Amino acid sequence: MPGEHSMPNDVLDVRETARRVAAAVIAPEAEALDRDGLWPEKGMHALAQVGLLGLTVNRQAGGHGLGMLALAAATEEIGRVCGSTGLVYGMHCVGAKVIDVGATDDQTRRYLEPIAAGEHVTSLALAEPGTGVHFYLPRATFRREGDAFVVNGHKSFVTSGGHADSYVASVVGEHADLDPGTFSSLVVDHGTPGTSWTSPWDGFGMRGNSSCSLLLEDARVPAPNLLGEEGDETWYLFEVIAPYFIVAMSGTYLGIARAALEATIEHLRSRVYSHTGETLGANDTIAHRLGELWATVERTRQLLHHAARLGDAGDPGAALALFASKAEVAETAVHVANEAMTLSGGRGYASNGVFARSLRDARASHVMAPSTDLLKTWLGRSLLDLPLL
Ligand SMILES: Cc1cc2nc3c(=O)[nH]c(=O)nc-3n(C[C@H](O)[C@H](O)[C@H](O)COP(=O)(O)OP(=O)(O)OC[C@H]3O[C@@H](n4cnc5c(N)ncnc54)[C@H](O)[C@@H]3O)c2cc1C
Repeated sequence: MPGEHSMPNDVLDVRETARRVAAAVIAPEAEALDRDGLWPEKGMHALAQVGLLGLTVNRQAGGHGLGMLALAAATEEIGRVCGSTGLVYGMHCVGAKVIDVGATDDQTRRYLEPIAAGEHVTSLALAEPGTGVHFYLPRATFRREGDAFVVNGHKSFVTSGGHADSYVASVVGEHADLDPGTFSSLVVDHGTPGTSWTSPWDGFGMRGNSSCSLLLEDARVPAPNLLGEEGDETWYLFEVIAPYFIVAMSGTYLGIARAALEATIEHLRSRVYSHTGETLGANDTIAHRLGELWATVERTRQLLHHAARLGDAGDPGAALALFASKAEVAETAVHVANEAMTLSGGRGYASNGVFARSLRDARASHVMAPSTDLLKTWLGRSLLDLPLL
């Protein structure tokens, strides 16, 4: 693949490990996960066994201590064989990073070390039905009562809902200033009294990840589960949550685009016409269309990797590149999956195989926060020196 030699060795190692697990364990499960709407138990277990749950966890806690470029590379490999597993793994890595950046010793012991040891899966519970794609506007509330926070609210589309060991949830104080970005994050452990799961996930695509709703009704979350200081989450939002989330989702959806492209190449090579004896790919118009698809995927990957490198370096230009990369990845994934379906003809359309799954999975990229609409608006507002939110 182009760009292999410009990657640091530790990123290449992680990508190779992800590729191996993807081929051996995740790919064989992908069709059944999609068909039956199952959570990727085996895939996550295999990723845990090879140490990949600790990708974003610091080295002292036993993790890899890697950043956005590694996350983009690993999620692309996983998303390439199964979008849902890419989503579950990506959310886990973002949640782990959010815990990691300001972890107390107690949080390191209870969360980061088990994550790095492959014994703990986490996820993100940010979105709510009321504020939708505006994920920076939580309305779930928390108040201190003795040694715990009492939390009330409704989180929607929580990936790995009911399957993860913990969920990083955003909350606001009951009488808080509700300006965008003013919130706090808590780690809510699986099985916390007062939590329940509703609306089992039955998506159009991205079906194998249990993205269901979490109800918090006077849920008692131990006070030491607060991440950082109360109300300092504007920093978390823009420096950690948004960039890592963008990269994890972009890698996954880029993987979906790549799967569609590779399946197209295979089809164009193997489909032979009886009246000419030639393959479909031998037609120059078809070859030209394929060339365009490859270039689209490749330039999108380069933009994503460029953005991830800027993010890892703490470059002030990272935000613009990251916003642009998720918007571009979404458009690339939907476009390539759509074109792949056309190029695969009735044969591709007739089955619910890789072409159909790529198309259905790719569609989620536009609506997942930050959605393509929001990202483009943020890009424009940044260029005009207007406040983002
Ligand atoms: C498969 C899947 C997994 C998910 N996993 C998670 C997860 O693990 N954790 C989590 O917190 N969330 C998750 N989400 C939620 C996701 O990030 C979004 O918050 C959610 O999809 C928004 O849905 P909604 O119906 O409320 O959208 P709405 O807010 O109703 O938006 C509908 C459309 O309107 C557009 N729109 C809204 N406001 C504006 C505006 N001001 N300008 C321009 N366009 C606008 C949006 O871009 C969108 O296309 C997941 C979603 C999906 C589909």
